Amino acid sequence: MSDFLLVLDEGTTSTRAILYAHDGTVVGTAQRELTQHYPAPGLVEHDADEIWDQTLACARKMVEQAGGASRIAAIGITNQRETVLAWDRRSGQPLGRAIVWQDRRTAETCEGLRVAGHEAMVREKTGLLLDPYFSATKMRWMLDHWPALGESGDALAFGTVESWLVWKLTGGLHITDASNASRTMLMALDGADWDDDLLALHGVPRGALPEIVDTAGAFGHTAPDLFGAPIPICGLAGDQQAATIGQQCLRAGQVKATLGTGAFVLASTGAVIPRSRHRLLGTVLAQMDGQRTYALEGSVFVAGSLVKWLRDQLCMVVAAAETETLARSVADNGGVCILPALSGLGAPHWRAEVRGHIAGLSHSTGRAHIVRAALETIAHQMHDLQTAFAADDAPWHDLRIDGGMSANDWIAQDLADMLDISVERPAGVETTALGAAMLAGVGCGLYAGLEDAAVMRKGARNFIPAMVQAVRSARLAQWHDLLATELAKHA
Ligand code: ADP
Repeated sequence: MSDFLLVLDEGTTSTRAILYAHDGTVVGTAQRELTQHYPAPGLVEHDADEIWDQTLACARKMVEQAGGASRIAAIGITNQRETVLAWDRRSGQPLGRAIVWQDRRTAETCEGLRVAGHEAMVREKTGLLLDPYFSATKMRWMLDHWPALGESGDALAFGTVESWLVWKLTGGLHITDASNASRTMLMALDGADWDDDLLALHGVPRGALPEIVDTAGAFGHTAPDLFGAPIPICGLAGDQQAATIGQQCLRAGQVKATLGTGAFVLASTGAVIPRSRHRLLGTVLAQMDGQRTYALEGSVFVAGSLVKWLRDQLCMVVAAAETETLARSVADNGGVCILPALSGLGAPHWRAEVRGHIAGLSHSTGRAHIVRAALETIAHQMHDLQTAFAADDAPWHDLRIDGGMSANDWIAQDLADMLDISVERPAGVETTALGAAMLAGVGCGLYAGLEDAAVMRKGARNFIPAMVQAVRSARLAQWHDLLATELAKHA
C-alpha cells in the first residue's frame, strides 16, 4: 500500500493541498490564496481557471514531497459548497466566472419563487430554503445572462467546485457526490438522482449536470500526464460535511461548528432525514455504498470574513491573529455591538437584504472595542443557532469546533461562556481536510469504514464555561436589541 493520502481542500479564500500519513499525521501542506472578485455590492465571484491552476500547483508540490504519484494511495477532495461553475465539455474552457456561495444576486428570483408559493415543495424535497445561497438559482442566472452558455448547447456542463476539479484532474469525468449535490436545490434528500420538479422549477437542463455518486469510492484516476502517474480519486465531500466526518460527529446528536469564512454548525441525525421547523437546513452528510446519512445544519454567512474585512477594508489589524490580543486588551466591548450581515443573514433568520451595522459608538470607543465586538458576533450567532437546534429537538450537549478562526483561544472561550457548554477543539483544526483524507482512505480500502478511519484523529483541548450568568444575559440582551432593530428596518 502506498504511503500517503493527498487532500485537495478548495476553500473560499484559499486552495490547499495536504499530504497525510495513514495515521493522520500531516506530512506536508501547500497553500495559495484565491482572488476574491467583488464586482458590485452583494456579488462574489472566483476565477475558474485560477481555482484549477492553484489546485494543480499545490497538488504537484505535495506529489513531489511524497516522492512521486505512486507513493499516494488516493486523493480526497473537499470544497466550498454551492459555488457554481459552467464550462464547455468540448473545449474544457470555463464559460464565465464561478458564482460563489456568498453571492446574493438571485435574491429577487428567490423572493419571486417564494411569493409564487414554491418554498414548501423546495423545503420538503431538499431540506433547503429559497435563498440565493444555493446553486440552482445561480445556474439559472448564468443561463439568463451569459450567452456563451446557450451557445454551448449540449456541450454545456454545470458543476460545483469538486465537479470542476474532478473534470480537470481526470480529463472529462463529470461527477458530483451526494453531499455536494444536496446543496444545489436540484436533488431531493432521499432521491438518488436529480429531481424533475426541481429541474423544471429552476429551468436547469438535466443534461448539463454531473452524475451523483457516493462520498467514498473508486471514482476515477488523474490523467497520467498531470503527476507522472495516475492517482485514484476516492473521496469527495462538501467542506462542512467533510469537517463533520473529520470531527467524528457520526452518531446522531453529535455536533460541530466550523469557523472559517462563514460558520457552519452540523448535527448528525444518522439515517433519519432531518425536518426542521425552525429554519435550519437538512443536508446529506455522506453516502456510502448508496446509503445516506444526514445532518441538521445552521449556516452563518459571516464569521472569519468579518475579521478579514476589519483587516483588509478598515485596516484595523495587520493579521487576523492580532484580534485575540486586542480583544483581551479591554475588559469588555465598551457598549459596541456589531450585526455582521455583510452578505445578509443566514440561519436562523434568512434575510438576504439585511446589511451590517455597528452600534453603540462613543468618544471612548477604541479599535480594541470594535475588534472585540467583531469577535463576539461568533458566539452571538452561535447562540441563536443553539436555540433553533434545541427547538428542533437537537439540543447541543457539547460542541466541537474547527476552522481557521477556532485557533483563536479568546473566541473558543467566549463560545463556551456564551453557549454555557463545553467546547472541544481538536489538536489539528484542519478537520475539513482530515475528513476528506478519511473518506479517501475508506474509498481506497485502507480503512473498512469511517469509524476505523478515526485513528487519524488526534487529541483535543476543552474550553469550560466560566462566565457569570448576569454578564451573559447582558451580552445577549444587547445583541438581540440590535438584531430586532435592524430586522424591523427591513421588514
Ligand atoms: P475558509 O476555509 O472558509 O477559506 P479558514 O477556515 O481558513 O477559511 O478560516 C479563515 C478565516 O478565519 C479568515 O476569514 C480569517 O479572517 C479568520 N481567522 C483566521 N485566523 C484567525 C484568528 N486567529 N482570529 C480570528 N479570525 C481568524
